[in-house]
Amino acid sequence: MHPVFNFENSYLNLPSQFYSCVEPTKVENPEIVLLNSNLIETLHINATNSIDLLAILSGNKIPNNTKPFAQAYAGHQFGHFTILGDGRAIMLGEHLNNKHERYDIQLKGCGKTPYSRQGDGRATYKAMLREYLISEALHFLNIPTSRSLAVVKHHSPVFRENIEIGAILTRVMKSHLRIGTFEYAHFKNDNNSLKLLANYSLLRLYPEKNEYSIPALNLLNEVMVAQINLVVEWMRVGFIHGVMNTDNTSLSGESFDFGPCAFINTYNPATVFSSIDYQGRYSFKNQPFIIKWNLYKFAETLIPIIHQDLNIAIKLAQEMLNRFDDLWLEAYYQTFIHKIGFEKITTKNKALVDELLDIMFKNNLDYTNTFLLLTNSVAWHEAAHYLKILNDWIMKWEQLFMEYQITKNSALMVKNNPVYIPRPHLVEEALNEAVKGQLTKFLNVLNVLKNPYNHHDLFLENIVPPNKNFEQNYQTYCGT
Ligand code: AMP
Ligand code: MG
Repeated sequence: MHPVFNFENSYLNLPSQFYSCVEPTKVENPEIVLLNSNLIETLHINATNSIDLLAILSGNKIPNNTKPFAQAYAGHQFGHFTILGDGRAIMLGEHLNNKHERYDIQLKGCGKTPYSRQGDGRATYKAMLREYLISEALHFLNIPTSRSLAVVKHHSPVFRENIEIGAILTRVMKSHLRIGTFEYAHFKNDNNSLKLLANYSLLRLYPEKNEYSIPALNLLNEVMVAQINLVVEWMRVGFIHGVMNTDNTSLSGESFDFGPCAFINTYNPATVFSSIDYQGRYSFKNQPFIIKWNLYKFAETLIPIIHQDLNIAIKLAQEMLNRFDDLWLEAYYQTFIHKIGFEKITTKNKALVDELLDIMFKNNLDYTNTFLLLTNSVAWHEAAHYLKILNDWIMKWEQLFMEYQITKNSALMVKNNPVYIPRPHLVEEALNEAVKGQLTKFLNVLNVLKNPYNHHDLFLENIVPPNKNFEQNYQTYCGT
């Protein structure tokens, strides 16, 4: 019989300090609740034997073509260095699809590992459904992200404040290499391992990139560009990651780790949803500053392999990071002028972007719907009120197109301004019903989010923002 996955685990060729071979802990009465047919097609996995598939995705059976492992890593959490590692996730293996593209297949919530510390290695059904929904939403918004192949519910109890339903999510990602992996190697003070890790990361993620003669500089440059593009994309759709610790910053530029993340309704750049982010470190507007901070942490780990002369190494790393601000502004405005229908950046259209965001903030306008209104005429009850507020800005906007003798690029606007985002109130409602055993709402929300740029009259409910009270009191939890 053809195996489900086509495993080939390149990560295990790294020095053994980077992982621990460990198997998932078996669960009772597993049941596949969600299975991602779209992703099955991308991966070309053999999902024909549903009994085998369930056994594997629940962690109850190890396929004989792999050796599962947990990854070691460290990280700066809210600015503080800690040794971490996969405490509740185990890599089943690296799967190669028919195009020879490599994907990590990871079971999240599948039991303890040597890195679990005080944790139980488990995950709640609610948190895994949430991750499934948000990761798929980002994917269909065309934003690089880890994906979710399946949610398997089980009957082994999970103890949180109460006893919760447990679940295992199959997370799929180009790679789970993260800044924290390098921080771990750096902490171990082992330059040989660091070099092997850098070469491995480059070969795996950026094999054709050789702008610089020093591999570590190529890696720093590629990760910087990928992360800048990612954070701009988050901001394009109003996404707050919420826990941008260095262990949650991928080298591939994929979004991952969806704990306290959420999408904004009303535009306020200082928005923070996470209940543990007391100082707003990971607020909406801080995301570019934080990614820059994380890249500095990354660069620090690379110093020993950039150059043997410390001063030269620091100078080279600093020169690379000095490019961040310009790259950021370029990427940010390039995307935001697309949101208002211009193709090329000018001083005047950048000013229009700034002015629009300022009007939105001062008037408590909904982020998604303001851009949507400028893109299409959407028939939601506040549209007329919005148009009144935006009237002067719209006149300036139209004048600028006339001044440049160009027309608005509507296709660009449609592509960059989603109609549907996972609005937190709808997500919470759907999750609360799901944990009570009713998946209909969850599946409806998921279905709408699979086509986020196409307006559909039937889905008006998904456009209407929640009442202000909801937003003011909304908090997210890493809770898990
Ligand atoms: P996160 O906040 O999800 O990035 O997780 C931070 C660290 O805590 C990672 O090393 C996780 O593996 C670990 N962790 C989170 N929840 C658990 C759990 N229930 N059991 C064991 N480890 C956990
Ligand atoms: Mg994490």
